[in-house]
Amino acid sequence: MINSEQVTAPIVENGPMMQMVQMDHEQVVFCNDQASGLKAIIAVHNTVLGPSLGGTRMWPYQNEAEALRDVLRLSRGMTFKSAISGLNLGGGKAVIIGDPRKDKSEALMRRFGQFVDSLGGKYITAEDVGISTRDIEFVAEETEHIAGLPESRGGGGDPSPVTAYGVYMGMKAAAKKVYGTDSLNGKKVVVQGVGHVGYYLVQHLVQEGAEVAVSDIFEDKIKAVVDDFSVAVVAPEDIYDYPMDIYAPCALGATINDMTLSKLKCQIIAGAANNQLEDENKHSLALIEKGIVYAPDFLINAGGIINCYSEVIGYNREDAYRKTELIYEVTLDVLNAAAKQNEGAHHVALQMAQKRIDAMAAIQSRF
Ligand code: NAD
Repeated sequence: MINSEQVTAPIVENGPMMQMVQMDHEQVVFCNDQASGLKAIIAVHNTVLGPSLGGTRMWPYQNEAEALRDVLRLSRGMTFKSAISGLNLGGGKAVIIGDPRKDKSEALMRRFGQFVDSLGGKYITAEDVGISTRDIEFVAEETEHIAGLPESRGGGGDPSPVTAYGVYMGMKAAAKKVYGTDSLNGKKVVVQGVGHVGYYLVQHLVQEGAEVAVSDIFEDKIKAVVDDFSVAVVAPEDIYDYPMDIYAPCALGATINDMTLSKLKCQIIAGAANNQLEDENKHSLALIEKGIVYAPDFLINAGGIINCYSEVIGYNREDAYRKTELIYEVTLDVLNAAAKQNEGAHHVALQMAQKRIDAMAAIQSRF
């Protein structure tokens, strides 16, 4: 029997439940399997628009608190990304605690797949940092709630080219706002990080006649883009001082911060990296003060999730690209609204996403 004392027991400050409440998550599942060594957390943030979808990240987190923080933050981000992209998907994400180079095994991935399956479709998984297509194929042995399978297995394959196309669309929309034309011809664009997404972004930019410079911490990545597109190279430590019109962060998060904003002299920031603003409130306002137009990361890097959604409803690459192209219109709407309201574009985009979630919640309650 539950007595009132149990029901009203306080939630531990900074404990998992308190964090879930603060970030408004629906469900968080802790997964443990000693035989395979699996330790994972699946976070379902919001399923108003549909099943939650978001990749699984494998990372050697220092402790479970760090892993929990990451999965809560990332899954919340997925809710807004899918909502603003017009997808019928909620936000979710999973993390596996461990070193992807040492701790992965078929058993671990399949056991993880069983945990995903136990949620009955409320969470659909895919690749993220540390998880390859091969790993996802193991997960797929245990659950059908999966996206990101190779094309040979009826999936959408690598989402990076689609993500890059969306970033390119978002960048063009920002150019339209700033320069009155969306042509990037002759614009000096610096692409930070030329991995999966950065490479394809450089391809679009060069094709349009932009003056591109690239930066990466790995020589082989630099060599690939320089060989293919003859672009200039900037050392990672010099990037924020480099003269440019457009900064495209395609490597890490939190690169828009006090230090970088004191140096950057660009007019536009538009890139693929997740969580670019170190502090959502402070740096969103700082961008306005500096007169830099910011294309919100979760809006313009949504091509990957759009590609995954296409897989869920029956893969059609053309349709995925068509939906990704809409990022242009939405970005322009966000930037126009932000300018009109003198608000940060990031917040305006969040409000738009929330508005759609609320509107859909209202019509659902009619059934
Ligand atoms: P990736 O790992 O393939 O590429 C990232 C590149 O950044 C690597 O080449 C790496 O060497 C480089 N890098 C790391 N630190 C750097 C630094 N300090 N300076 C310069 N370069 C540095 O990753 P990706 O798939 O291309 O994704 C890039 C970003 O976009 C990530 O933040 C990712 O979360 C985000 N994103 C990717 C997708 C997708 O479809 N792949 C979708 C949405 C968001």
